[in-house]
Amino acid sequence: THFGYRTVPLDEKQSLVDDVFHKVARRYDIMNDLMSGGLHRVWKDALLSKVRPPQSPRPFRLLDLAGGTGDVSFRVVEAGGPGTTAVVADINAEMLAVGRERAEKRGLAERVEFAEANAEALPFPDRSFDAVTIAFGIRNVPRIPVALAEMRRVLKPGGRAFVLEFSKVDVPGLDAVYDAYSFRVIPALGRMVAGDAEPYQYLVESIRRFPTAEAFAQLMREAGFARVDFMRMTGGVVALHWGFRI
Ligand code: SAM
Repeated sequence: THFGYRTVPLDEKQSLVDDVFHKVARRYDIMNDLMSGGLHRVWKDALLSKVRPPQSPRPFRLLDLAGGTGDVSFRVVEAGGPGTTAVVADINAEMLAVGRERAEKRGLAERVEFAEANAEALPFPDRSFDAVTIAFGIRNVPRIPVALAEMRRVLKPGGRAFVLEFSKVDVPGLDAVYDAYSFRVIPALGRMVAGDAEPYQYLVESIRRFPTAEAFAQLMREAGFARVDFMRMTGGVVALHWGFRI
């Protein structure tokens, strides 16, 4: 397109993604607030209200895939009862290291574990989690159907998977604003704060290539999830999908 859209072959994709998060790990949390104007907090709150960890001491084990610096896990564990625990799994050791420090500071080190893992090949046994979340992570995974199958495999029957991800803006007028924001403002912010625009350029492009909400729901059904549904937020900037393993 006129924005200089560039297609990245599948085999290069993971290493590009690793590069991005390797560069930004230390500044990831501040960049998140800055680039989303704080909206990522609203989106994660919506995710939390769907995950609904138990208030009782009943055990509830969350796998937070592509969990990065631990944001989603911290929220779920803090909202849940004393039996609620989480595993933050991410392919990037730097992101996990920042997460571990944050868990210590928040007094959550006992209840949140960190594991280096690729979403396409999870090092966890079948049927071991009550819920699996992946927030702003699945669009980075080269083979999405493989990751979805893994998510289902590690869920206990009756457990739910939640996917929070950028989607397609469906409000007339907002799409032009969103394009201008993502192709001009985001890379500029990246240059200013992280010293490099290119990683952010790549992230913006990865959002454009991601399937529509309906198409993604279909991918979840094909991976074997039942009662798949989704909600759009902020005019379609983000969508939250969920499905059960039954
Ligand atoms: N979930 C966190 C949040 O919402 O703040 C972090 C999201 S961050 C945008 C995306 C994360 O996906 C990065 O930490 C990156 O290392 C991770 N990631 C990318 N490819 C992955 C893969 N194949 N398996 C697991 N994690 C991956």
